[in-house]
Amino acid sequence: MNQWEQYFRKVVPYVPGEQPSVPGMIKLNTNENPYPPSPKVKKAMEELDMDKLRLYPDPTSHALAEALSTVYGVNKEQIFVGVGSDDVLGTAFLTFFNAEEPILFPDITYSFYEVWAGLYRIPYVTLPLLEDFSVRKEDYYRKNGGIIIANPNAPTSLNMDLEAIRDILLNNKESIVIVDEAYVDFGGESALSLLAEFENLLVVQTFSKSYSMAGIRIGYAFGAPSLIKAMNDVKYSYNSYTMNLPSLWYGAEAVNDQAYHNKMLAKIISTRTWVIEELKKLGFTMPDSKANFLFATHKEIPAEKIFLALREKNIYVRYFNKPRINNYLRITIGTDKEMETLMSALAEILKVTSLTN
Ligand SMILES: *Cc1c(COP(=O)(O)O)cnc(C)c1O
Repeated sequence: MNQWEQYFRKVVPYVPGEQPSVPGMIKLNTNENPYPPSPKVKKAMEELDMDKLRLYPDPTSHALAEALSTVYGVNKEQIFVGVGSDDVLGTAFLTFFNAEEPILFPDITYSFYEVWAGLYRIPYVTLPLLEDFSVRKEDYYRKNGGIIIANPNAPTSLNMDLEAIRDILLNNKESIVIVDEAYVDFGGESALSLLAEFENLLVVQTFSKSYSMAGIRIGYAFGAPSLIKAMNDVKYSYNSYTMNLPSLWYGAEAVNDQAYHNKMLAKIISTRTWVIEELKKLGFTMPDSKANFLFATHKEIPAEKIFLALREKNIYVRYFNKPRINNYLRITIGTDKEMETLMSALAEILKVTSLTN
């Protein structure tokens, strides 16, 4: 080992889902949206004036914040914009979680939370979800340095009702509570409506899932002006120009096209409804999903076996080899056609596997 290595910051990095590019594959492993973004984004891309790229982008992300402000009915001083919600969440961890008391989050949730906690040396305690994967809100009524909850949760897909979030806020008036709403548009209820009541609430959303723009990298947070200012102070102390100029424009175009957004959401929700019924017929069970994915387990065949067999057939879903969830598959809702192919593949795999058992 070189002498200098002792001064390296040691971290255990986040492991994203694989991004294979096999021709003809069906990709249901990272919760991307199967439909294209709004046609207004395409038009903006075609009209982009190359000469503008000579200049630095607006560090305040004004145009995008303005569009979000109008559509979501929140003042501009209450909006923070970042490079995907991962950037927004990472900035929030760095800004708000500096107490000696540990921060709290569920044992089964977005695995990036413990990665940021590790990176920034934030003490944390994970609280076990109940057997049915629901959050026991009373577990969060204890001294802490902050709370983060994904709602709907990932990878469980379960939604917690707003009353429970409100109870957690009522019992935590001295720390910041972050609600990660990456999937809220697929049937959850946003904590945005609680913003007027709680100055310690930060609501984080993204363009990656419901707006079909994972490749553009835009996330945003809503919170009290004092919280947003604190996050901006940290951002300006690290990298003032996080948002590239085209993405600020494309993001605004996407948000302004709510008619298209709602149409795509309805489509995914209706696909989810029939997929749930079909999976149940094949012997799967799953929590009630309010997200664009299902978290399914089979009554006989181990999840890992199904995962590998699907991969043989060029169908990618997500499998987590972790305690409590190692018999589950996380399946993104794709197009109707993709889901039909998945169903026939599953029927075949289950038939062959139960014959050889
Ligand atoms: C996908 C996801 C994110 C981050 O998405 P970005 O692409 O960085 O916006 C954050 N939280 C959860 C729970 C997610 O599933």
